[in-house]
Amino acid sequence: MGARPDSGRNRGDVRSDRFRLPVSGWCVTVQSPTGLEDLLLRESRVSDSALALELFGRLVHAENGIPADFGELPAADGEALLLLLRRAALGDLVCAEARCAVPECASRVDVDFHISECLAAHKVRRRRSLRQGDKQGWFSFDGESVLFRLPTCADLAAIELENEPRSALVHRCIEPAGIPGRLRRRVERAMEAMAPRLSQSMTGRCPECNQAFDFYFDVYGFVLRELRNHAASVYQDVHLLALHYKWPERQILEMPRSRRIQYAEMLRDQGVAA
Ligand SMILES: [Zn+2]
Repeated sequence: MGARPDSGRNRGDVRSDRFRLPVSGWCVTVQSPTGLEDLLLRESRVSDSALALELFGRLVHAENGIPADFGELPAADGEALLLLLRRAALGDLVCAEARCAVPECASRVDVDFHISECLAAHKVRRRRSLRQGDKQGWFSFDGESVLFRLPTCADLAAIELENEPRSALVHRCIEPAGIPGRLRRRVERAMEAMAPRLSQSMTGRCPECNQAFDFYFDVYGFVLRELRNHAASVYQDVHLLALHYKWPERQILEMPRSRRIQYAEMLRDQGVAA
């Protein structure tokens, strides 16, 4: 918890981040988005999971010759990757909003955290009773016939429009179907230990009534909504720069987002209106 900084827009800088994803071990670099990704964010009509995969394909590079099919990434690594992308686009400090859970208070509460600290605290554990299954990427327990694998980014994209997404995910990742609830919960605990999700419940304290409350931070929902909001100026920026400098649309869109915004703001500060 912390006060929202009053330094204006949290625009961040243009940089490339190198990072080892905790579950897969893939080493990746992440680029800052350009206006082309801003247009994608504003105009794409695909699901959040599919949109995230499209952004990964454009802005993330896997090292060491690993084929970069981001659909194969464990879903937990997809969340880490989306936070890295957010850091490259808008900086390390995240300012989320929650609402106090005390009904008679219901104050809006700013919740601030740093992505770097969040990722550093993200520890992967491996259960001793776990063994490799016959199929690559599948696991089992000693003395049990159940097989399971970690959900991937492609799984999330595939189940997003299902009526029963949770059942669909279980069906894809656990074999055989219909195992007892006790065993399924054991499998789910093992999955969570091997690939803890960054979307999680967080605890905050309301500055108005001083009560602690829980809220759920959904990485995909939050980051994509934030990136879409920040992309909203792309049309005005391109219009202003094209009108003033006579640069072609493509050239403006290919600039790093932060540079385009800076040029456009300089023109606005000088009273140049589109
Ligand atoms: Zn309160």
